[in-house]
Amino acid sequence: MPDTILVVAEQREGKLNRVSFETIAAAQSIAHETGWIVEVVLPGHELSAAAAELATKAVKKVYLLESPSLETYTYDAYVQAMGQFLKEKQPKLVLFPHTYQVRDFAPRLALALDRTLISDSTGFKFESGRLLFTRQMFQGKFAADVSFAGEEPWLATIQNGAFRGDQVEPGSAPLETMTVAEPLASSRVVPHEVFQEAKQAVDLGQAEVIVAVGRGIREQKNLAIAEALADALGGDMAASRPICDNGWLPLDRQIGSSGQTVAPKLYIALGISGAIQHIVGMKGSGTIVAINKDAEAPIFEIADVGVVGNLFDIVPALTEEIKKV
Ligand code: FAD
Repeated sequence: MPDTILVVAEQREGKLNRVSFETIAAAQSIAHETGWIVEVVLPGHELSAAAAELATKAVKKVYLLESPSLETYTYDAYVQAMGQFLKEKQPKLVLFPHTYQVRDFAPRLALALDRTLISDSTGFKFESGRLLFTRQMFQGKFAADVSFAGEEPWLATIQNGAFRGDQVEPGSAPLETMTVAEPLASSRVVPHEVFQEAKQAVDLGQAEVIVAVGRGIREQKNLAIAEALADALGGDMAASRPICDNGWLPLDRQIGSSGQTVAPKLYIALGISGAIQHIVGMKGSGTIVAINKDAEAPIFEIADVGVVGNLFDIVPALTEEIKKV
């Protein structure tokens, strides 16, 4: 029986997030090199439509880990349910999307199982038969290849945008519902407080279009130019660190090594120089458009479309043209 790679998929209000598919793509790439099989588990309650969508991918099996206690996320219910599941299934490798939720429960799960977790991996390789995951270190200045210590299952989280979710191989997989042994001890959920917290934290990881501003925007009032472009494209606003440090945009809009990692279909960088600490947070984007008055700005090295010029001339004109479409 070949070894199993288990992908832990994530959804919000029944909709699977994009990085779950990216994580399946990572698992399929590893499986191609090893001959291991890929299975997926979706923890939650009454999620048959989302599970059916996962079953359209080239994986061996999709499990719906079902419990009313998993309807609203709490770390302790997730740790217990996933702990039970992993003990029964005994996969070799467990891959998680690197989301807020996973950052909350996966380290606790690793601790409860006494297993190794490699977080925020951007790739993998095999060296002398050993599976290594790549992690960025020191604000993205170095990449380290990290191996697992100790017993299986090995746990790893996959960085947003590191693999192509739209290149998951299609297929047809059987679906099995597994019921969790109750009761799961669960933190008390106060719906009002949870709702407020979710509203405050912006998860740019799910955004399809991002318009990001840098120091080239000069003054807070000029943000309106970028906002108009973001509105015309139905996108979200983001920023480089100096903009958030100035308090012109909230910290949860910061992209980079000390902010969020994003991989939208379209990333428009306005007046951003392209420091490595910024690049590590957005280089996985589908198409990168950079507008900068300095033709030597490092952002142009990774841009798919580069416009050398003054953003105060270009952006309003671009917004007007987009509005006409
Ligand atoms: P600048 O580097 O000052 O670039 C401004 C750009 O705007 C220039 O290229 C200029 O040519 C252009 N410009 C000016 N006027 C115009 C105009 N009218 N039209 C068009 N272009 C114009 N940074 C992050 O972004 N995210 C992080 O998470 C992050 N983490 C960090 C962590 C550490 C430990 C450290 C030390 C730094 C970190 N930084 C981070 C900061 C990072 O090193 C850079 O200083 C920052 O990204 C620069 O921001 P910027 O590109 O907006 O500004």
